[in-house]
Amino acid sequence: MAHHLSHLTPTPVRASGSHRGGQVAADRALDGFDVTGYATTRSTVEPIERRGASGLSPWIRHGLLPLRRVWAHVEGGPTRDVERFRDELLWQEYARHLYARLGVRTRRSLRADPPAGGDEQWSAEEREMACVGAELTALERDGWITNQSRLWLASQWSVRGRRAWQAGEDLMFRSLLDGSRAANRLGWQWTSGAGSARPHVWTRDQVEQRAPGRCAGCARRDDCPVEAAPTTGHPDGSVDPGLERLLRHDDVPHLTAGPRVVERSGDGPPDTVWLTAESLGDGDPALAAHPGLPAVFVFDEPLLGRLRLSGTRLVFLAECLADLATRRPVEVHLGEPIRVLAERRVAVTAAPVPGHRRHRSRLGDAVVELHPWPWLVTPHDGSVRSFSAWRRR
Ligand SMILES: Cc1cc2nc3c(=O)[nH]c(=O)nc-3n(C[C@H](O)[C@H](O)[C@H](O)COP(=O)(O)OP(=O)(O)OC[C@H]3O[C@@H](n4cnc5c(N)ncnc54)[C@H](O)[C@@H]3O)c2cc1C
Repeated sequence: MAHHLSHLTPTPVRASGSHRGGQVAADRALDGFDVTGYATTRSTVEPIERRGASGLSPWIRHGLLPLRRVWAHVEGGPTRDVERFRDELLWQEYARHLYARLGVRTRRSLRADPPAGGDEQWSAEEREMACVGAELTALERDGWITNQSRLWLASQWSVRGRRAWQAGEDLMFRSLLDGSRAANRLGWQWTSGAGSARPHVWTRDQVEQRAPGRCAGCARRDDCPVEAAPTTGHPDGSVDPGLERLLRHDDVPHLTAGPRVVERSGDGPPDTVWLTAESLGDGDPALAAHPGLPAVFVFDEPLLGRLRLSGTRLVFLAECLADLATRRPVEVHLGEPIRVLAERRVAVTAAPVPGHRRHRSRLGDAVVELHPWPWLVTPHDGSVRSFSAWRRR
């Protein structure tokens, strides 16, 4: 991996300390997850053995654990825990719907424009704070941190640090194994106040409660920068009318959702299943429909050159492919998907993200079978302005 991909990443090419890629690892993690106690312990950061969070997000993100399967897994658990957990799965689905509808426009603030300026890196003083520094270290080493820690980091960056949320979002996106523009942008919009009713504010109390003992070892324990809440109002600004309209109504919900049944074109059957990072599991609909065909994955060199994902994320993807290759033929390429696939007859699952739609339209007739995306809930044409508005509908 280092030999082939190190020119595409700013960080060492090495495996995560916490998560392995692949269906086998995903299945094992899901089998081992018991939802009991989730509602109470979801936000625990330390001690690690008391964390209630499932840690399933990297496999969910890359389609190895479809939301419907995870939803079904917790059936029969304690009602309060099951409801809370399924609520989080719905947040994931909401983020996907929002992104499928808005695409790159999710980089614009959806409700208000928080003040932005300053450096686009974490400062040495911030790294000195145990709450921030230890989470950044874990993020860089493992590519995974809890939701609570993400809130601390995003709020420190944007609300206390008054830096552009988009720059912080980029940094976190690159490091997370589960980094998706859908959920990461939603998390940052929500935390910074750009897309929510008010910014998320955190203080030392939360650190003491969620990670007891952390502050005792902190170099800044006697002059803690997050001892008190910052004075912040809701940021000013309004959303442009075009975006506002799109948030409230989708004129083309069938395009947002993608096909509902398999769409076939051309004369003959496919000769290749094209896999993308959105859907790397054995259950990928196109893959499952063609057990005898080779699966082709392309590390998109121009795209990765721009994204600068962590080496750990790249290894995670490669682990998924290596695991799949123990069960069926897999070809892995480095280059441009269009060049690798243009002369083939491709079956693929319609991932609801703008980059995938772009590639599909450039491939044109080469795509002879388009399989539906396995939504948990089919996207509707009503409001996605907030989670509750989306959910009501
Ligand atoms: C600033 C910020 C950035 C985030 N970036 C991402 C990201 O890039 N990718 C990502 O998948 N999640 C992101 N989240 C959401 C959430 O933090 C992670 O999904 C969760 O921490 C993953 O850990 P888990 O699997 O143990 O979650 P659990 O608590 O066990 O939840 C189960 C699943 O529900 C989904 N989920 C849980 N919380 C959320 C949420 N708030 N929003 C959307 N889905 C959720 C995830 O798929 C998760 O795996 C972000 C949150 C914040 C505040």
